[in-house]
Amino acid sequence: MIAESAHGPAAGGIQGIHVVAKPVGPRCNLNCDYCFYLEKKALFGSGGQHRMSDEVLAAFIAGYVSSQPTPAVEFVWQGGEPTLAGIDFFKRVIKLQKPFAGRKTITNALQTNGTLLTEEWCRFLKKHNFMVGLSLDGPQAIHDRYRRDRKGNGSFEKVLRGLKLLQQHKVEYNVQACVAAETARRPLEVYRFLRDQGVAFIQFAPVVERRPDARRRKQGLRLAGPAALGAEESQTEVLPWSVAPEEYGDFLIGVYEEWVRRDVGGVFVMNFEWALNAWIGNPSPVCVHARTCGRAVAIEHNGDIFACDHLVYPEHRIGNILKGDLGRMVEASAASGFGAGKEKALPRWCRECDVLAACQGGCPKHRFAKSPGGEPGLHYLCPGYQKFFRHIRKYLKAMATLLEHGYPASEVMRAIEGPLVLRCPPPKETAAPPGAGRT
Ligand code: SF4
Ligand code: SF4
Repeated sequence: MIAESAHGPAAGGIQGIHVVAKPVGPRCNLNCDYCFYLEKKALFGSGGQHRMSDEVLAAFIAGYVSSQPTPAVEFVWQGGEPTLAGIDFFKRVIKLQKPFAGRKTITNALQTNGTLLTEEWCRFLKKHNFMVGLSLDGPQAIHDRYRRDRKGNGSFEKVLRGLKLLQQHKVEYNVQACVAAETARRPLEVYRFLRDQGVAFIQFAPVVERRPDARRRKQGLRLAGPAALGAEESQTEVLPWSVAPEEYGDFLIGVYEEWVRRDVGGVFVMNFEWALNAWIGNPSPVCVHARTCGRAVAIEHNGDIFACDHLVYPEHRIGNILKGDLGRMVEASAASGFGAGKEKALPRWCRECDVLAACQGGCPKHRFAKSPGGEPGLHYLCPGYQKFFRHIRKYLKAMATLLEHGYPASEVMRAIEGPLVLRCPPPKETAAPPGAGRT
C-alpha cells in the first residue's frame, strides 16, 4: 500500500463514482515503515484472515456496475497486498464481471508491491488487460530504506523482478514512487533510475503521517486520523519518515527540471500532467488537487464502505455492500458535506493563493498546519506545493501556448534551448515538424 496516493475521477461532466477494493483488507507480505494501511488490522480484528467472501464480491461487482452513472466502470484492487488473494480470486472477478460487459466498459487495475508477481500472474494480467500500479521508490538504497518485510529484508530485488516480468509480458503498468523524508533529497537518482528501467508512467506520492492522539491510540492505531476541517489540531508532530514540506517541493522541482529538458512526451509524470491540466483550465483528474472530492470510496474485505481509502475509520464508515445500495451510500456521503468541505474549509491563505487553481489546498486529511497568520486548516505540504507550482509556471505557460496553437507540449524542450517562433496555425496536413519555425 502506498502512502498519500491520489485517486479517482474528481469533478466535471457526469459525476461518476470510484471504488477502491481491498480483497484482503490490510494484509500484506511486507511491512513498509510508512504504510498507512497496515494498522487497519486493529479495526477489523487481528484473528481473521481478512479475505473478501464470494458473497461480498458478487454484491460489490453487481452493485458497482449498476450504481455507476457513467459508461465506464473501473475496478481498482488494492490492499494491503491484493495479490495475496490469489489468481483464483481474480478469475472469479472476471467471471462475475462478464454478464455486465455488454452494458458498461469494465476495466481492472491492480495496485501491488510487485514481490509476488510470477509468469502466471503476468499472463493473467495481460490476458485480462489489467492496469498494474507497481510500488517502487527508486534504486535499491532508496527503495529498501522504507520498503522491507517483517524480518527487515529489503524488497527491491523482488520488486525489480516483478517489473521485468510485467515488461516482458507487455502488461500495462505505471510506477507509484513514495517520496519520504530521505527520498526527497535524491530526486535525480530516483527519476533517472525509473527512466532507465524503461518506466514511462510515474506518480510521486508524498509520505505524510502524524503521531496518533489519545483517541486513535485507544482504537489501536499508531497513526493520526484525518485533520478536523478548519479547526485547530493539537497534534501536529509528524513521524520521522514524513517528507519535509519544502523538500517535497524541491524534489518535484529537481525532477521537473530534468524532465522538461529531455523527457516531455516520452515519460509521463502524473504530478506534472495534473499541473498542466489545471493550467489549461480543465478540472483536475485527481482528487487531491480537485476543488471537491467525496465520490471515491473504499470497500473493505467484509463489505464495509468508507468515505475514502484515506478515511478508513469508524466515523467515516458509510454502510455495508450487503445491507444497502452502493450508489445511495455514495450520494449520502457526498451530500454529508465531507467532499464539498474540501473547498468550503479552505483557509484564507489558500483562497488568496496565486497557485490555488493547480493546488486546491491538497487533501483535507493533511490540513493540520497553520497559515503564517495563524489560521488553522492549511495543508502540511503547503510550502512545498507553493514552491513547486510557482517554479513550473513559466513552463506550463509555454506548454499551454504550444497546445493552443496545435503544437505538442514536447516542443517546450526546444523552446528552453533558445527562442522558438511558432507558425500559427501549424500546417493541417502535417504534424508540427521537428524544428518548425525555430529561429
Ligand atoms: S479525502 Fe478527498 S482528497 Fe483526500 S484522498 Fe480522499 S478523496 Fe482524495
Ligand atoms: S499552495 Fe498552499 S496556500 Fe496555495 S492553495 Fe496550496 S495549500 Fe493553499
